[in-house]
Amino acid sequence: MSQNDSVFDRAKALFLHFAEPLQLEQRYAGCSLLRRLTTPDKTITFRLSLQMDDGTIKVIDAYRVQFNDDLGPYKGGLRFHPQVSLDEITALAFWMYLKTAVVDIPFGGAKGGIKIDYQNLSAAEQERLTKKFAIMLTSSIGEDTDIPAPDVNTGAREMAWMLDAWRMTSGSYHRDMVTGKPLDMGGSQGRVESTGRGCITTLAQAAADAGIDPEGATAAVQGFGKVGRNAALELVRRGCRVIAVSDIDGAVFCQDGLDVPALAEHSDRTGSVAGFPGGQAIEHGGVLTAECDFLVPAALEDAITEQIAPDIRAKIIAEGANGPTTQDAMRILHDKGVIVVPDILANAGGVIVSYFEWVQNRQQYYWTHEQVIQRMTKKLVQAYRRIADRAGQRNTSLRQAAYEIAIERVVGAMLERGVQ
Ligand code: GLU
Repeated sequence: MSQNDSVFDRAKALFLHFAEPLQLEQRYAGCSLLRRLTTPDKTITFRLSLQMDDGTIKVIDAYRVQFNDDLGPYKGGLRFHPQVSLDEITALAFWMYLKTAVVDIPFGGAKGGIKIDYQNLSAAEQERLTKKFAIMLTSSIGEDTDIPAPDVNTGAREMAWMLDAWRMTSGSYHRDMVTGKPLDMGGSQGRVESTGRGCITTLAQAAADAGIDPEGATAAVQGFGKVGRNAALELVRRGCRVIAVSDIDGAVFCQDGLDVPALAEHSDRTGSVAGFPGGQAIEHGGVLTAECDFLVPAALEDAITEQIAPDIRAKIIAEGANGPTTQDAMRILHDKGVIVVPDILANAGGVIVSYFEWVQNRQQYYWTHEQVIQRMTKKLVQAYRRIADRAGQRNTSLRQAAYEIAIERVVGAMLERGVQ
């Protein structure tokens, strides 16, 4: 890993590296574009006091970073995790506006989080915490200003609680204030599986360009949360053998291909992929370095470091997580000829379907599952094609091309907007 352990500083350095060929400072002298593009618009930091079931009060740090809204209202998920920090949330908000720009949806980027071991709270504590967080954010959030969604450890249940908190305080329904809701509260078909499924949609495009048929190919998936599990299920749907899967508690391997639906059922029942009888236990790192065609890192940041990158044997990596590859590791993978579908494209299926959910809420007219998946696929394929064509023309990586497209879009809006 790099000497600098600020995720945001590293994200910024990477951004500046990819922005270099665009020569923004030279082309738009005096506009301070790079500074504006790498500084969050607004950072909200607050303290939450949570009453625990035993009556004691816990003091908790919470954040919402609104990074950029040049292309539309701020948009981005909420992460409830012990590792959350303002630094991490800022980096995630930064990536979020690049993601919405690269897939061409009318949103900016934001991210929120609570630093808490959320999974070890009782359900009542979780509900109190989530509703308090929603209420604290009321004046900063809204269907035309900033629209939260799920991220690590949050899902439809938390989004329903947030909507309920706002309904109780404002006295009216604004379903479009938050996306990733349960279906009967205005959620969209396909939202739960969208990130994982979309990740494999982009992977399949890259595989087709590389002449690899997913049917009969092999894959490894790191992480078995919402993203990893749906990515694994989609790989199986496309005839791929998923030979290795890990989560925080363990890793399993089966050369003939794991029975992924059975693994999902095992993980639901026991809380982990560990101990799955249909595979052999392996070391965590073994998933990233497994001999296979495709690798999907779908856990947290910095999973693929310069230490592990030389041992990666996959031909194509699709980044289901945000920021799973360090900059040094990127260089190593590039030199090895590994194709990497970058996070801002590979995991954009979630926010694309969030956008569709917001549209459906505003229309009060709901689409079928098939329509949602079809429209998400179309958006991702279009974005992939633009990125791959640009990368091909300029002989650069997909990530370089994706950053350039995203930056150009946001800069276009920034300049059109004027400065008065
Ligand atoms: N948390 C997801 C992401 O990182 C989804 C955000 C959203 O739907 O707004 O892309």
